[in-house]
Amino acid sequence: MENRLSYRSKNISYSHTIAMSSQARKLKNKGYDIVNLSIGEPDFLPPKFVLDAAKKAIDDGHHYYTPVSGYYDLKETICKKFYRDNRIKYNPSQIVVSTGAKQSIMNVLFSLLDKNDEVLIPSPYWVSYLQMIKLCESKPIIIPTQIENNFKIYPKQIEEYITPKTKLFIFNNPCNPTGSVYSYNELKQLVNILKKYPKLLILSDEIYEYIYYLKNNSTTSIASFSEIYHQVITLNGLSKAFSMTGWRIGYIGAPNWIAKSCEKIQGQITSCPNSIAQRAAIAALNSSPLNINYMIKSFENRRNIVLDMMKDIDGFQFNKPDGTFYIFPKISNFFGKKLKGKVIKNSYEFSELLLNKIYVSTVGGFAFGNDQYLRISYASSEKNIIKAFKRLKKLVN
Ligand code: PMP
Ligand code: GLU
Repeated sequence: MENRLSYRSKNISYSHTIAMSSQARKLKNKGYDIVNLSIGEPDFLPPKFVLDAAKKAIDDGHHYYTPVSGYYDLKETICKKFYRDNRIKYNPSQIVVSTGAKQSIMNVLFSLLDKNDEVLIPSPYWVSYLQMIKLCESKPIIIPTQIENNFKIYPKQIEEYITPKTKLFIFNNPCNPTGSVYSYNELKQLVNILKKYPKLLILSDEIYEYIYYLKNNSTTSIASFSEIYHQVITLNGLSKAFSMTGWRIGYIGAPNWIAKSCEKIQGQITSCPNSIAQRAAIAALNSSPLNINYMIKSFENRRNIVLDMMKDIDGFQFNKPDGTFYIFPKISNFFGKKLKGKVIKNSYEFSELLLNKIYVSTVGGFAFGNDQYLRISYASSEKNIIKAFKRLKKLVN
């Protein structure tokens, strides 16, 4: 019966981040001492004022369907947040709140993409972009980057890949899996190219915006450049910033015509995002980003530990990520070599070996478009990180 599955279903793969994490969870349940550095999920509790807002929402009776695109006062709060943190002006009719940023992305792709449309994505890219594009029967067009340039594209590179079929450019800044963050000046140069193509739309995934370690500076939103404001859909969510992965709240700010279409699609697929989580989101987004500084500081300490420990491990080539909680070392040095009796051929085998022999769960770079690398998430306690890197060192040195 399996051949009765649709072409779209057969054409996509499982999410490898989720697959690795559930493999780790199963081993843990069997009693193995697993360190899970595969999933990108903060290990903090959401802030207390967010938890209190959710409890109050239950007591206040928020048990019913909400407007499809979210409560009006949440959309107003999001507009204020966009202006406060990103210098972007949106009005509530341009906002659509969804069941996680994943659903926001899918709403946008379903709204814009037809069969064989081309979508530009810099590689390494976050796992799900490619599969979501394939779900729309469109074509991902990969723009390669190099570790030597901190995995950033050269603005002029984009032009080499634009064709009459190019509809969308997916831009993730700060970037999962590399941790790279474009500076204001780098973005400005990119904008100078993008504005030459007014029909090209840009989905700017800014879900890691606060997780940024350079001082006296904040990340810049590409829609804040007025020249391309009308081309940009700005995507964000609460999963990473407020450690609310399971609450499933994501949102976009977009040109009206795109927001309307996302609302139409969402109305048919999920009716609305969760009502309690929306009330909690109001509390989260109304608060100053300073309230979550303790998490950012902690991620920064963990990043420094990772950098420190990784330099003592032979065969890893890596740069210093300025943001997110990922690092993306090159591990191709190990290919063709024997580790624990097995000759390693690719990043999948390397990460499987780490899981099965030293009980450290990571994700092979192949899932992010570059098989020569490995993604390590350091959204785990310092104790776990140290434990994992000691095991890694013992394995390879
Ligand atoms: N974009 C990026 C780059 C991500 O890493 C994630 C993490 N899952 C998402 C979008 C989706 O986030 P969520 O659906 O949890 O809001
Ligand atoms: N974004 C996280 C990651 O990349 C969570 C898992 C997922 O949604 O892919 O690990």
